[in-house]
Amino acid sequence: MTTATRDLAGLTARIAELAPGLRVETGPGATGPYAYDASNYRVPPRAVAFPRSADDVVGVLRACREAGVPVTARGGGTSMAGNAVGPGVVLDFSRYMNRILDIDVEARTARVEAGVVLDALRSATALHGLDFGPDPSSHSRCTLGGMIG
Ligand SMILES: Cc1cc2nc3c(=O)[nH]c(=O)nc-3n(C[C@H](O)[C@H](O)[C@H](O)COP(=O)(O)OP(=O)(O)OC[C@H]3O[C@@H](n4cnc5c(N)ncnc54)[C@H](O)[C@@H]3O)c2cc1C
Repeated sequence: MTTATRDLAGLTARIAELAPGLRVETGPGATGPYAYDASNYRVPPRAVAFPRSADDVVGVLRACREAGVPVTARGGGTSMAGNAVGPGVVLDFSRYMNRILDIDVEARTARVEAGVVLDALRSATALHGLDFGPDPSSHSRCTLGGMIG
């Protein structure tokens, strides 16, 4: 077993301790699609994690901080300057953390998870005659977390 393989096994074991049940994938089949975004950069990550909650995110951040491994958050991966790729652990918010939690029509606000796609939010708010101001052309793919990032 190489040092890199041992380090990765240690990291995924620590993530499993701190974020039980969190789906973490390694290996080229799983990480390959995360090696690129809409830019020309290609950086394969060591692992990809699919958080379902803020606790999952905290667990990954803690494990990676302990191990000195960089973390890259990712939404739709439409950034055009290599922002959504990195050599450590990629946190994919779009897979599960993509819920619209509530829409307060009176206050004209919505609570959402970071991986909600802009068009999904717009479709939901349109039912109440509301819209969301920022309007990137990537609206059918980009997420709220990625837009803020
Ligand atoms: C065809 C096309 C058209 C575009 N049009 C526009 C445009 O009109 N205007 C414009 O401004 N941009 C545009 N962009 C750029 C890009 O789509 C936007 O910046 C978009 O908001 C990125 O969202 P995303 O979910 O794809 O983010 P990603 O590409 O996944 O990530 C973008 C950045 O945000 C960070 N990030 C992602 N999720 C989180 C999170 N949960 N917490 C913390 N950080 C996070 C990432 O680490 C990265 O640094 C376009 C891109 C394409 C490919």
